[in-house]
Amino acid sequence: MFEVLAENLLGRIGRLKTRSGRVAETPLFLPVINPVTQDVPASWMKKELGAEAVITNAYIISRRLREEALRTGVHALLDFDGMVMTDSGGYQILEYGEVEASPEEIAELQEEIGSDIAVPLDVPTGLSGREKAEETVEKTLRNLQATLSFLEKRGERRCLWAAPIQGGIHLDLLQSCARKEKEMSFDLFALGSPTPLMEGYRFDKLFKMIYAARSAIGFGKPLHLFGAGHPMIFPFIVALGADMFDSASYYLYAKDDRYMTEYGTIRVDKLDYLPCYCPICSRIDAGELRKLERGERVKLLAMHNLYVCFEEIRRIKQAIRDGRLMELLELRARCHPSLYQGFVEIMRDGDLLRAMEEHTPISSRRGINIYDGLSLRRPEIALGRRRLLQNCFTGRRHEGKALLLPETLRVSFEKASRIPEDLDMLFYGSPYGLIPLGLRYSYPFSQTNYPKTLLDECLDDLIEEAVKQLKAAGYSKVLIVAARSKALERFGRELARRLRELEIEVEEVEDIRELMKGRK
Ligand SMILES: [Zn+2]
Repeated sequence: MFEVLAENLLGRIGRLKTRSGRVAETPLFLPVINPVTQDVPASWMKKELGAEAVITNAYIISRRLREEALRTGVHALLDFDGMVMTDSGGYQILEYGEVEASPEEIAELQEEIGSDIAVPLDVPTGLSGREKAEETVEKTLRNLQATLSFLEKRGERRCLWAAPIQGGIHLDLLQSCARKEKEMSFDLFALGSPTPLMEGYRFDKLFKMIYAARSAIGFGKPLHLFGAGHPMIFPFIVALGADMFDSASYYLYAKDDRYMTEYGTIRVDKLDYLPCYCPICSRIDAGELRKLERGERVKLLAMHNLYVCFEEIRRIKQAIRDGRLMELLELRARCHPSLYQGFVEIMRDGDLLRAMEEHTPISSRRGINIYDGLSLRRPEIALGRRRLLQNCFTGRRHEGKALLLPETLRVSFEKASRIPEDLDMLFYGSPYGLIPLGLRYSYPFSQTNYPKTLLDECLDDLIEEAVKQLKAAGYSKVLIVAARSKALERFGRELARRLRELEIEVEEVEDIRELMKGRK
């Protein structure tokens, strides 16, 4: 039903196949469709945007369009022949209090109308306090049991069933809810995300919830996120482990005269230019957009907003294939200080970074860009360092001496062959620590780009990594060849100082030629 095709961080490209035989690629963005009034038709989304899936609300259908939906099925009702997910109506509980339906009724309706992905009636936690949150989790779990018993009695399932994970910002509660659901016979999971978090720009909390859910359910089954909001956070929620997500933002923003860009939102009355060349924006200018009659403007804005959302999904997929999802996060983190805060907290979460490291391939078709201390914490760097330490430095007592060369130095084969055999040539100044001569041109060491300012900014970290490697190898003596560039020269000097502090014998060498055999 779900096959992972490529991974980067906790994001993956996958292939989801429903019981009805419909197929979609993840990360999958599902626009929210109102079954009663919908300005932008779902059929348009499929034709113009290549939308593979949409989500609608089973509760609204049961109240307003029950007979028609039962007669025609949900796909005909929405005029959409891609994948249709139906939410149960739990959200209506959050908005309006109780819903007038039982878990069994909602389950039956979703099976009968032929939803591809269905959700049992849940009780959303929202931003509730602890006590209320516990209650919503209990009620949700009870509803899930009732739904499963009903489905069992009913016989063969037509829908894939998603277990809604509640608990909100109470992460222990959220995880215990998810772990219990993991033991039940659901096909996928769906995390309830409190909309107020998004509205209040509390992205840090949302990110923690996603990873908490993902780590509790494991990596086998897809995870959906309800209410993903603005496209600028899509790369983050994918990187944290959400495979699919829905959003009504394209329309809610449009109704509020807000124009989406991949890096933020601009109010229509403040737009002098349209910074986009989607089919909408390429045939109208900002002034014309403002002057449109409101209904038409909202519709065009919603369409443009959808283009922005789908464009970002493509960008994310390409980034996963290229092993560059982190670069996209670094870029998007600059969209808003709250997003940056969420990003910094991701990069400080050792447990999360280790999980990302496990799911990041050890090779990639594109290089790695490092900018600063934060990007130095990337899983690829940690992975490269760990492999270097284990494979090149640890466990074999190096009888000889280490010869440390500045990484800018070019060493020809002829030159290298004239260096005495008891000197192990290592290059200093790399984000990975010291790189042995034999690995100098292999991935990822030579495919990692970084500014010289990194040596300054992260001097302590880089020195400590080099010291760790040298200590693990147990060299009897370290020779350091001075660098010509100022930043590297300082690095060499600091490293020598630090090694002497540790009572390791150090010799500073002005020029590599001093060491060559048979020099004239
Ligand atoms: Zn546009």
